[in-house]
Amino acid sequence: MFSPKDKISLLILIFLVFDGCQSKKGLKAIEKNKKNMGSVLIKDQLVDTITKIPTDNSLYKNPELPVMVRVWDLLSYMTLEEKIGQMTQVGRQFLESDSDIGTYFLGSLLSAGSAPTKNIPKSWAEMYDSVQKIALSTRLGIPLIYGIDAVHGHNNVVGATIFPHQIGLGCTNNPQLVEDVYRATAVEVAATGIDWNFAPNLGVSRDERWGRTYECFGETQTIVKKMAGAAVKGLQSDRLDSPTSILACAKHFIGDGGTKWGTGLNEKLDQGDAQVSEQKLREIHLPGYLQALEEGVGTIMPSYNQINGEHCHGNKDLLTDLLKKELKFEGFLISDWQALEKIGDDYKANIIRSINAGVDMVMVPGSEKWGGQKYQTFINLLIESVNEGSISEIRINDAVSRILKTKFETGLFERPYSDKSLLSKVGSKEHRKIARDAVKQSLVVLKNDGVLPLSKDLGHIHVAGKNADDLGNQCGGWTISIQGESGSVTNGTTIYEAILETVSSATKVTFSKDGSGAKGANCGIVIIGEKPYATSQGDRESLSLDKKDVAAIDRIRKVGVPVVVIIVSGRPLIIENELDKWSGLIAAWLPGSEGKGVTDIIFGNYNPTGRLSVTWPRNIEQIPINFGDVDYDPLFEYGFGLSY
Ligand code: BGC
Repeated sequence: MFSPKDKISLLILIFLVFDGCQSKKGLKAIEKNKKNMGSVLIKDQLVDTITKIPTDNSLYKNPELPVMVRVWDLLSYMTLEEKIGQMTQVGRQFLESDSDIGTYFLGSLLSAGSAPTKNIPKSWAEMYDSVQKIALSTRLGIPLIYGIDAVHGHNNVVGATIFPHQIGLGCTNNPQLVEDVYRATAVEVAATGIDWNFAPNLGVSRDERWGRTYECFGETQTIVKKMAGAAVKGLQSDRLDSPTSILACAKHFIGDGGTKWGTGLNEKLDQGDAQVSEQKLREIHLPGYLQALEEGVGTIMPSYNQINGEHCHGNKDLLTDLLKKELKFEGFLISDWQALEKIGDDYKANIIRSINAGVDMVMVPGSEKWGGQKYQTFINLLIESVNEGSISEIRINDAVSRILKTKFETGLFERPYSDKSLLSKVGSKEHRKIARDAVKQSLVVLKNDGVLPLSKDLGHIHVAGKNADDLGNQCGGWTISIQGESGSVTNGTTIYEAILETVSSATKVTFSKDGSGAKGANCGIVIIGEKPYATSQGDRESLSLDKKDVAAIDRIRKVGVPVVVIIVSGRPLIIENELDKWSGLIAAWLPGSEGKGVTDIIFGNYNPTGRLSVTWPRNIEQIPINFGDVDYDPLFEYGFGLSY
């Protein structure tokens, strides 16, 4: 992984390092450290392993020096325990005590499914700073790198801008917009101190029954490839060390969207087996990653799924031979949540297999409650595996140097704390405007018998449907909580509120969830679809419309009012038998917090440009159906979309 320049730096370094010394101050630090290390470590080793003490002049502390000089200098001070700590990522909510950050020299924390008690941007920044302070007070002062899933805006934080999920962004066909969306996301993430985003998702969603369909840009390598680089560029910007740059993580490597029904969790799709030839894997599932690599993506997350029966997390051919050797990936690999537990029954064997396959940092994350292992267990077993020779020190040094290299490149050592001056950017007008633009470009008009766009001066509009006035449903999963939830989960404008704000003062707008009371209206707008879900919990055997949704539409039609249907969902639903009854149909995907982007289309502020990034099937039997299939006969083709 090192260039000739790096190698020269390394030689200089070796010379300098052997010139190192141990001061009295340093020996005191050893003693202090020994006490701090707790029971987890193999104590006899300590005196042997801590051989060098850093000083204020240690090379790794000098930002003027080349990154690899700093990496190798720092590595030369590190004990095995300190190295293993860098390879360990713990869930913030599972820390038994904050002091464990120092005790175990943890390299990384993440927040997933947890938030500070008061979920506002400022508390996130304070929480970040408080844990960072502990990491910085350890012997070597290596900052934590803190990760989060900001997959459609900084979506765990109440008040942040919520952008459309990636399926909608795929339908915009506009990489510049995707870059802008991810840039704005990066600024909001940076405002809370967090350094690293587990995004973009570069899955190619080949089966709409999959609960993660909406996390992907679409069903073809073409659209994923087109957006992958833009997303990475938006997050990381031109320089990884600029104050608002966020380390990106392309996920889930590889084939997560290509699994076969019946092979996944609960005999469905997620985390199942992608049964594909190497040629198909490279042709369909790899191109997005090539683009992300071209854009310098800093980290990659292996996938829970298997490729022809082999778990990606234990697959050396994929992780080391393909990614690191053939494609020259120089960043680091972060495992997925509790993924090592899934490889087999013997956790230690799984650790050995996975680290040897090329995983550099492990998202342990430390929850026994959720069927996972404790971080102390992971650390002990990894140390044990190295000591007994099941994992070589060379592999450990490679993993740790990749992690440290990234930490230096992101400027973490120089700017380890949050920049609170950025807090005003979270949920700012400027970002909400980008989100609104993204919404209007993501909507796909699928049917229009002339009813659209609606006039803002209509005498009476009746609005109905469970997704008309529900911000949570409109945002979908990965919003405030992992699964998302219905209701006023954060700040934003529902589609119903946006309609009220858009029509003329003379227009009467009535509303009922079930479609009752529409009599006399000039038009009905019925917003139906799915309720929030995420990951495997969104895998569905049936994609039929909710009966209550159909009833709400029919109630309006029965009183002679034409209906425009807006589907808010993470994927196409089966509508063939209903479509004839509707005057207009718009796929709005999961638009997020800015409902006005939807009214921009309904009322013609914007001439629709959205085009399907996934095929819209006629019926469930057709699924999986993808562009390029033989006998391709969908309800709406990939790429379809009407303009006015
Ligand atoms: C998901 C990842 C996510 C991670 C951390 C996992 O369950 O598969 O996409 O980044 O959790 O939240």
